[in-house]
Amino acid sequence: MSVTLRIGVDVDDVLTESLPGYLEAFRRYFSHEVKVEDAAWEIFRRYPEIPDAQMWAFFAELEATDFLGTRPVYPAAVDAVRALAMDGHRLVVVTGRLLIHRDHTRRLLDKAGIVDLFEDLVHRDGEAAAEFKPRVVRERRLDLLIEDELHVAAATAGVPAPVLLFDRPWNRGELPPGITRVQNWDDILRLVKAMAAVRSADQKTTDGADSCAREEDSLNRRDQGYGKDPAGA
Ligand SMILES: [Mg+2]
Repeated sequence: MSVTLRIGVDVDDVLTESLPGYLEAFRRYFSHEVKVEDAAWEIFRRYPEIPDAQMWAFFAELEATDFLGTRPVYPAAVDAVRALAMDGHRLVVVTGRLLIHRDHTRRLLDKAGIVDLFEDLVHRDGEAAAEFKPRVVRERRLDLLIEDELHVAAATAGVPAPVLLFDRPWNRGELPPGITRVQNWDDILRLVKAMAAVRSADQKTTDGADSCAREEDSLNRRDQGYGKDPAGA
């Protein structure tokens, strides 16, 4: 069996369709049209003329309508997450959503029937997303991150950890090394399988080399009265 991977999975626009809905809400509230290819979550920087009070009122409306708890989950994402879990991969949500919205995410994924397939739902606590995600990937020793925001993907690829970037209108352009653009969840399942197979082959090679070295070592040390059980290594 191939090795299993530790995979970080973003929520918005990876498991759910979110940013287009956010832009639509923004357009309805402020009558500002933002093209989806120019989309970003930190949209208020572009409109310094919008007073803070209006911005907070907009956020309050999103909260009142449970925006983050009701994003449509992609059916293909549900199937793929189940398939990855079935294959034994360890899944962790790594989202730029704030810690105060953790319950929104939990409810969302619970409704989709996949919340229990994640070991943890890691949320951001004020840190910039491009610092937060690489840190989580590093600290939790994740093998892979599935993401849709280019600057976050680029920062994570610098960890270095490979990133699968969902092709979205807002992340087009040159990709730095370490990032692979994917079109859908089938691409992801295929690439994860390939990556696990490569790891498995690497491990066998390493194990083979280790076992030769161990054998030699054990022969050399036999008369010294100690050895190491390879199974316990
Ligand atoms: Mg996202």
